Amino acid sequence: MKTIGVLSMQGAVSEHLQKLQQVGVNAKRVRTQDDFSQIDGLIIPGGESTAIGKLLDDFNMTDFIREQIKNGLPVWGTCAGMILLAKNISNQEKTYLATMDITVQRNAYGSQLNSFVTEEKITQISPNKLPLIFIRAPYIESADTDVNILAVVDNNIVAAQQNNMLVTSFHPELTDNNDVHLYFKSMC
Ligand code: GLN
Repeated sequence: MKTIGVLSMQGAVSEHLQKLQQVGVNAKRVRTQDDFSQIDGLIIPGGESTAIGKLLDDFNMTDFIREQIKNGLPVWGTCAGMILLAKNISNQEKTYLATMDITVQRNAYGSQLNSFVTEEKITQISPNKLPLIFIRAPYIESADTDVNILAVVDNNIVAAQQNNMLVTSFHPELTDNNDVHLYFKSMC
């Protein structure tokens, strides 16, 4: 059975762990370098990118995780996780893991009050219409040509993949649909 780690610094960790169990993978909280020795993939959850980024630095994990991803570890960043993976953030200078060739805008939809739910078909992930939950979400403003755009909502890119890296602006772990977790499992 595959083991997928969920980065456990801050954010929606337990929701992802629960989903992973539902799709038949071993789910593991990861925080230290040792934790990474047994995982086939990594989820970076939603939360607050500044907090997660600071904790990654405090735990001395930023360079280590960047290397793991560059060496091919499958990774999926949801919401704040997308911000952590982006090489450019248009409305701030600081970047974090900076492994994926995308430019994202943080809090692109405005404040918490502008959080919303919609539905979209993402053909590369699932034949079903998926519920999409956006919570103070980022979106992708631009992407290099080798980034595969998976979903566009209101003219904004909200899901994309570049080789072993998947990002979504939205939170599949907060819905009752398992298709994005199944898709990530297939990447691992
Ligand atoms: N607004 C958060 C940030 O900038 C992301 C929100 C989320 O992950 N739901 O990090």
